[in-house]
This record gives sequence, C-alpha cells and structure tokens, in this order.
Amino acid sequence: MAHIVVLGAGLGGTIMAYELREALGREHRISVVNKGTRFSFVPSNPWVAVGWRDRNAIEVDLEPVFAKHHINFYPQGAERLHPKDKRIQLMDGQSLDYDYLVIATGPELAFDEIPGFGPGGLTQSVCHIDHALGAREAFDRLVANPGPVIIGAVQGASCFGPAYEFAFILDKALRDAKVRDRVPMTFVTSEPYIGHLGLDGVGDTKGLLESEMRQRHIRFITNARVDKFQDGTAFVSEIADDGSVKGGHELAFTYAMMLPAFRGVAAVRDIEGLTNPRGFILADKHQRNPAFPDIFSIGVCVAIPPVGKTPVPVGVPKTGFMIESMVTASTQNIAALIAGKDATAVPSWNAVCLADFGDGGVAFIAQPQIPPRNVNWSSSGLWVHAAKVGFEKYFLHKVRSGQSEPFYEKLALQMLGIDKLKAVQHEQG
Ligand code: FAD
Repeated sequence: MAHIVVLGAGLGGTIMAYELREALGREHRISVVNKGTRFSFVPSNPWVAVGWRDRNAIEVDLEPVFAKHHINFYPQGAERLHPKDKRIQLMDGQSLDYDYLVIATGPELAFDEIPGFGPGGLTQSVCHIDHALGAREAFDRLVANPGPVIIGAVQGASCFGPAYEFAFILDKALRDAKVRDRVPMTFVTSEPYIGHLGLDGVGDTKGLLESEMRQRHIRFITNARVDKFQDGTAFVSEIADDGSVKGGHELAFTYAMMLPAFRGVAAVRDIEGLTNPRGFILADKHQRNPAFPDIFSIGVCVAIPPVGKTPVPVGVPKTGFMIESMVTASTQNIAALIAGKDATAVPSWNAVCLADFGDGGVAFIAQPQIPPRNVNWSSSGLWVHAAKVGFEKYFLHKVRSGQSEPFYEKLALQMLGIDKLKAVQHEQG
C-alpha cells in the first residue's frame, strides 16, 4: 500500500486528491495537508471585493467531503518539508511520512518587497478571501467618498488576468453606484504593453484590452516599477528597454489594488534541488522533481520560466485550466509508478483564461505558451461573463461533491467551440 500526500487544498490540491482517489482505489492511502478546513475559490475574489459574492458563496467545508472519499485530512498545515527523509513536519509538531508527495501550496504573496504595499499597508488585495473582504469595506468607503483609483500588477507579478478583471469589474460597480464620474482610474502594470499578460499577448489581447481601457476611460502606464506607496501616493518609475528609468509618476490614490509578485511558501522554500531561488518547485515535463523523483508539483507553486525578456520582470500566469492538466498528468504518473511502470504523462499546459468584466469579458487560449503558437485565440463579449459564472458554479460543485473528472476543460472547449485545441490535445495524447 502506497501513501500519497497532497500538500495544499486549494484549486489544484483539492481536485488532485479526488483524482488520485478515483485512479488508485481504496487500497492506497491518500492524505491532504492544508492550512485550514475550508476550500476557497480564489477566482471569485474580485466579485467578493465589490459585494457581488460573500464568503459562504465561494467556500466549501472540506472535512465531510474528504471523509466521504476516505481521504485523511490534516488542516493544521505544514511547518517544513524534509524531502531526504520523505517526511513533512506539521505545524502541531506531528510528522507525516509519504511514498509520493504532490506539492500544491500556491503562492506566498510578496507584498513585503515594496514599502507600504498590501493589506498590511496602504493598498487592497483580491488574492485571498480575507483580503477581498477587506477590499469590500474599502470599496464602500470609496463609494461614500469618491477619489482616484489605481489598479494593476507590480514588477515580478505573473497573475495579470485578475488585475484587468478587477479594473473593469470596479468600473462597472462604480457606475452602478453612480459615482464613476468622480473616480479617475489609472491602470499601472509591469507588462511592456497592455494585454501582454505574461504571455507576450494572445491573439489580439493588446487591441481588445486597450480598447476596453479607452471605452471605460481608464488611463494606463506600462513598463511600470512601483517604488513605494506612501501617504496616499504611489511612486512609480517607467522603465526603458535598456533598463534605465525613463520617467516617474507620483499618483495620488484614494483606493489602490495591485497584484503582487509571488514566491514559494516557507514550508518548501530554500531546499536544494527542489526549488528555484524564488522558492517555486522545479518540475520536469511530467510534473516530477528531478532531484526528488517521488515529489510532484501542480499549480502556482510550479517553477515556469518567463516567456522572454521584458524591461520590467513579469512572470507566466498559471490558470485553472492549465492546473487541471497538471493534476491529470501527475495522477497518471503516480498511478504508473505505483504499478511499476514509467511516468510518461505530459500535461498540456494550455493557457486558457476567462477574464470577466462584470458586463462582458475577454477569453483567450494560448497553446503553447511561448509564441509562435499553434492556437493563438482571443475573443470578447457578454458570453465570457456567463462562462465565468458557469466555471465558478461547476468548480464549486466539483469540490463539494468530490468529483474527479476534469470536466471544466470539456465544458470550456464546448463553450469556446475551439476544435483546433481539441485536436492539439488529442495529438498530445
Ligand atoms: P491555491 O488555490 O492558492 O491553494 C494553495 C493552498 O495551499 C491553500 O489552500 C493554502 O492554504 C495551502 N497552503 C499554503 N501553505 C501551506 C502550508 N505550509 N501547509 C499546508 N497548506 C498550505 N485562474 C483561472 O483559471 N481563472 C480565473 O478566473 C482566475 N482568477 C484568479 C483570481 C485571482 C485574484 C488570483 C490570485 C488568481 C486567479 N487565477 C485564476 C489563477 C489560479 O487559478 C488561482 O491562483 C488558483 O487558486 C491557484 O491554485 P493553486 O492550487 O495553485 O493555489
């Protein structure tokens, strides 16, 4: 009997545990270690931040679901991974041994890299449900006392979709509250151009997103490095192609929300052979760590190099769709290894994103991530908002029921009607 431990029960880790249970049957032990007992659907946080969702609508109590599927649950969290001993030290001092480990710990949010940044400082965040609830209170204060707003993503960020989403959702919420005319909005981003998204653009995301910005009267600054937030002002440098400072901006704000850079979480950081210098887990094309081949990793914690050099550093986004493909490949590989076979499954890593704007949205598919691509498609319309609501409803249903099928991929493909992508996936087996 093998013991497989999944570390982290977010968007990736939860479905990882379900897929492992489905693939391996009851003769193997599956355990999940998480910080807390609740699953939180991160993609809905921008809606929470403007009052369109509350906590209960996007969270699931994992204890009864895991119990039903015979998955052991350790919600006390991991203090430190000891890969040479194949052991995890838990926060309460207990130790957990494993035969195979899947790391799914998501990001640590690096707010501390910029003075005054983050919910502990002067700006809001939508990266965690607690932050989004705080941002909701700040939104109410903004409606009561309108003033300038900054939205965007700082240097080293990789998650650009939610920054655009939140700019347009906030624009809609402020229009609904009839105060948008008193809120000048600026989008500040480390991307070299609007719509780069950490992927050097997908289809016409540059044109689509710039056009949305113009239509909604949102100014933008690209190649931006945020130096500090102080006394209601963001100090921003614009960086030239040669790395020199081209100009500076002092932007006064009443409300600011910018996506931070990510790094790996403390429990798995600085382990030689396991992590890169930012603490992301090194993985080969089978999601397997080369130094510790009994360790797989999925989701935001995986090290993926940037698509190219940019004046200000930007990372590659890891979206739900891509994460599902990592989960399926890791499950197949662990099942193969347990059966004494080779790990040969390769995830598709397709970048697929639905960016909701509240009253519309932009969708894109990039395959492969680095251009030139076989599939390089983007589109916009009200249907994207409907599709994003469908994604939320479906994913939460899947987590509540313990369902393992990677159905979202199929649903999304049907909605997008992209036969070409299906063909590419089929070719990859
Ligand atoms: P997470 O969901 O963050 O889960 C990590 C888990 O690990 C957490 O439960 C955490 O408690 C746990 N953990 C951390 N440290 C420890 C420890 N020491 N011990 C035990 N457990 C630990 N993608 C999309 O496809 N569509 C979207 O619309 C979308 N919107 C997004 C919106 C926002 C605001 C953000 C930030 C991201 C969005 N993403 C979206 C990207 C991505 O899908 C999400 O970030 C997703 O939550 C990542 O899943 P994950 O499992 O890697 O990490």
